[in-house]
Amino acid sequence: MGTLAGKIALITGGASGIGRACALTLADAGAHVHVVDRDAPGASAVADQVGGTAHVADLADPDAVAGLPADVDVLVNNAGLQHVAPIHEFPPERFTLIQQVMVTAPFLLTRHCFPHMRERGWGRVVNISSVHGSRASAYKAAYVAAKHGLEGLSKVAAIEGAPHGITSNCVSPGYVRTPLVEQQVAAQAREHGIDAAEVLDSVLLARTAVKRLIEPEQVADVVRWLCGDSAAHVTGTSVAIDGGWTAQ
Ligand code: NAD
Repeated sequence: MGTLAGKIALITGGASGIGRACALTLADAGAHVHVVDRDAPGASAVADQVGGTAHVADLADPDAVAGLPADVDVLVNNAGLQHVAPIHEFPPERFTLIQQVMVTAPFLLTRHCFPHMRERGWGRVVNISSVHGSRASAYKAAYVAAKHGLEGLSKVAAIEGAPHGITSNCVSPGYVRTPLVEQQVAAQAREHGIDAAEVLDSVLLARTAVKRLIEPEQVADVVRWLCGDSAAHVTGTSVAIDGGWTAQ
């Protein structure tokens, strides 16, 4: 029996990358997993693989949350997207979309699942933040603003949840080997006229001490630990998985 046997988990953006790794890992720990994504085939494939349930939802739509399960013990707010542009050229509608998916949807989902967690006297909210939840990079105004917002939301949920056995934390990776990062590597390679390996060394990993991309499974393992009883006193914090980026 896994540590999450009998527990129900909901993971947004569960069709790909870190969300997919979290779905596999939490299912391995015994949870029934709801895989939420706007990518229908991707969500179904992951749900089938873990014996879970797929839900197709566009989290930019605030009404989408009402149709998702609320009897959730473990909520992983993971869905996200990136847009890279200088502030004076940043499309306002992309800025708004990123806040909707990466701040408003986590708020609405936490609000949606809190009554069940409070009733049970146990709950885990894990917000997939980023090194950009505490650090800035040029051209990522929307993403950096959203991740800082998510860190704040997570702390409030920790304080309100504590009397009810609910913890809320962020997990804050540096660059993880996922489609989101592979797209950035390809775009930077085109822009600078260099190859992908050079983009990794001289652009993406320039600020990290460990000169390797993080694997999605490494992030999922920290999520699993935060969901266990040994992490019951870990709340309102952000666990960095950043190869030493924020140590500098
Ligand atoms: P990914 O692109 O592999 O997966 C993101 C998933 O979110 C996709 O399945 C996508 O369909 C889904 N999604 C996006 N917008 C959605 C919407 N409106 N409604 C429903 N689903 C939507 O990305 P990833 O790298 O696995 O990123 C997952 C999370 O991890 C994001 O919040 C990201 O900011 C964070 N993160 C990633 C890295 C990294 O280096 N990859 C680093 C730090 C933090």
